[in-house]
Amino acid sequence: MPELPEVETVRRALVPACEGREIASAYVGRPDLRWPLPENLATRLTGRTFMSLSRRGKFILARLDGHESLLLHLGMSGSIRIHDHRPDMVGKHDHVILEMAPPKSADGASANALANASAGASAGPCWVVFNDPRRFGWIDLFAGDTHPMVADMGPEPLGNLFSEDYLAAALDRRTGPIKTALLNQQIVAGIGNIYACEALFYAGLSPRRKAGTIRGARAERLVQSIREVLLRAIDEGGTSLRDHVQPGGEIGYFVQKLAVYGRAGEPCPACATPVRMLTQSGRSSFYCPTCQR
Ligand SMILES: [Zn+2]
Repeated sequence: MPELPEVETVRRALVPACEGREIASAYVGRPDLRWPLPENLATRLTGRTFMSLSRRGKFILARLDGHESLLLHLGMSGSIRIHDHRPDMVGKHDHVILEMAPPKSADGASANALANASAGASAGPCWVVFNDPRRFGWIDLFAGDTHPMVADMGPEPLGNLFSEDYLAAALDRRTGPIKTALLNQQIVAGIGNIYACEALFYAGLSPRRKAGTIRGARAERLVQSIREVLLRAIDEGGTSLRDHVQPGGEIGYFVQKLAVYGRAGEPCPACATPVRMLTQSGRSSFYCPTCQR
């Protein structure tokens, strides 16, 4: 399931394919994904221009001309492909396809940066394909800049508002486990199961530890570990993006070097104790019983 780094990688790939470009045509293959898609979505998107793309937690927010924005969530299995030619066929799970006109304000420099930075996008037209086999993804078109889904979200973990003081205050008196608290998007945005496990490992904190005990040096270590695992993953995503020249143009998924996640029974990379797994709130947690307290 895509978390903050994967979504950020997708956003970065979409910038050259979408920003400053008009949607020449739109295909919407079904009326719903996780929820019903906005009515007449294809018609409402055609002829619109993407002004900017930002990310909030695991959501991509694309501002269009005419004071409307598009909200995109990749769900469990959503992915994006960018083609520099019209796809020969519409795949079974290709639910939305946007044909993007060449960039409007194509000064030479940005067009070149574009061609270099992205999978398949160039100074010519391109096709952005949203594929989602399990259909937990989510697309909405709304007026203004702020969608209710992101309005009460906690701070961005890579932003200035996310500090040890903030985290200690947000966790204060919480008796549930820290692992579960990290998945709460109102406490901190964008962290899912994989990076919660990884950050707790690098901070030396047990996933079972009571959230309310995280303060002082522990809060400092956890904030730092969260930032480090996310930044490292974003870097790897950027690397995979640069290396990605396959005609399929799929972006957003990359093999991540993980210390404990998905590695039950394998030796801890720090002390060689076998990594353990436990279930918390229905999700698997992976941890080293020796390193994490
Ligand atoms: Zn260990």
